[in-house]
Amino acid sequence: MSREQMVVDGARKSFQTGKTKPLDYRTHQLKSLLRFITERRKDIADAVKRDLGKSEHGTELFETLGLEGEIKLAIEKLAEWAAPRPVEKNLLTILDDVYIQPEPLGVVLIIGAWNYPWAVTLQPLVGAIAAGNAAVIKPSEVSSHSAKVMEEFLPQYLDKDLYPVVIGGVSETQELLKQRFDHIFYTGNSTVGKLVMEAAARHLTPVTLELGGKSPCYIDKNCDITVACRRITWGKFVNCGQTCIAPDYILCEPCIQSRVVKEIEKNIKEFYTDNPKTFEDYGRIINQQHFKRVMALMDGSTVAVGGDSDESQCYIAPTVLKDVAGDSKVMKEEIFGPLLPIITVSSVDEAIQFIKEREKPLVVYVFSHDKKLIKRVIAETSSGALLANDCLVHYTVSALPFGGVGNSGMGCYHGQHSFDQVSHMRSCLIKQLKMEGVNSMRYPPHTARKLGW
Ligand code: NAD
Repeated sequence: MSREQMVVDGARKSFQTGKTKPLDYRTHQLKSLLRFITERRKDIADAVKRDLGKSEHGTELFETLGLEGEIKLAIEKLAEWAAPRPVEKNLLTILDDVYIQPEPLGVVLIIGAWNYPWAVTLQPLVGAIAAGNAAVIKPSEVSSHSAKVMEEFLPQYLDKDLYPVVIGGVSETQELLKQRFDHIFYTGNSTVGKLVMEAAARHLTPVTLELGGKSPCYIDKNCDITVACRRITWGKFVNCGQTCIAPDYILCEPCIQSRVVKEIEKNIKEFYTDNPKTFEDYGRIINQQHFKRVMALMDGSTVAVGGDSDESQCYIAPTVLKDVAGDSKVMKEEIFGPLLPIITVSSVDEAIQFIKEREKPLVVYVFSHDKKLIKRVIAETSSGALLANDCLVHYTVSALPFGGVGNSGMGCYHGQHSFDQVSHMRSCLIKQLKMEGVNSMRYPPHTARKLGW
């Protein structure tokens, strides 16, 4: 029996004891998870610093703050989320109790990615614990320091059998995927997403796939370009562009391109100084392999801002590419790095067409004063989310389902959506063994007289 199989069996056995059913138990585990984040703040920040060169405040702002908020929300709302949900009844069932009872699915596999190693691995866990599941946690091996801290310290806070951490790379993940789970929650690229779904299909296991893609960003020439570019610069270059919901590329009319370039250049200097390489709030590309991949994406494009790099440090400067062709190398795959290509289009119609011809992204961004234009983009495109006049902030709204559509994923989480995602919504109908007379119509023989026809 493989180690992975033993871990999963252990989690299932533990789940089957019914230990996770009482809400008090779940609350206790959620509080321990919160305590883990508070007490291990320094270990977490150090690990992220070593993985991604991120500053301590950056980790707090973009990893742990949101996570703590989600845990607190789950603790506060757990009783409400787990309670029976009454539904509208029909004439036949008017006297009955008819409701939806959320119930835990069983053992959930959580496969995390490396770019926000804590947020994308532990936020699904919040939902899994709250909903009463066991969960096997598989952090990304690429952010190895974070994975080690998770492996070492999480078992000191959470029930070891119910929430084991499995460390390893592709082969360990594949071994895990051979096991039977009741739900798989995967965050990562779409190619591996397909493999996860294939493996899940063998056991008829439902999946949540939080994937990526190229999120477009349209700038209307009549908007406040200064403010728009400030927000876009922030959304793009935070975490060196290694953010699933970062604006991947800009679409705008040729007449504003040079203004957009200038504004973004100004913002880069303001946010990251003249030398981002030595500035603590500008991180690094996760590893050499990704460094080479991102650098190669620049081939054939014109650098308008930045462009310099240092392979020995996995450093790539915040970079803007101008007059980029729709079929250029940088437009062939999700960039996931600090390159911001600008593609000029003649109008919003062409921008919409450009977006529609490609895979459905995680986010469509639009910057405009014109509400009608924004509504048109909403009506005529599809994506996991749409954000007008800002970047990334929808992630912080727990009430909004966070997830993709089509190639950018399926399923969603955050807030109650996390709870619902890993719950079975069981239909319950409780009738009394009384008033049999009202049922006579449904029993054969179905004579016209009985039916009143
Ligand atoms: P990664 O390389 O860390 O892979 C993710 C996980 O998949 C890891 O745990 C890894 O062990 C496992 N894995 C990798 N190859 C595998 C294989 N062949 N078989 C089985 N398991 C395998 O992360 P990544 O894919 O480079 O992550 C970046 C991608 O994730 C980007 O596309 C990004 O947009 C996306 N992402 C999406 C979200 C979201 O919420 N939608 C969040 C973060 C990242």
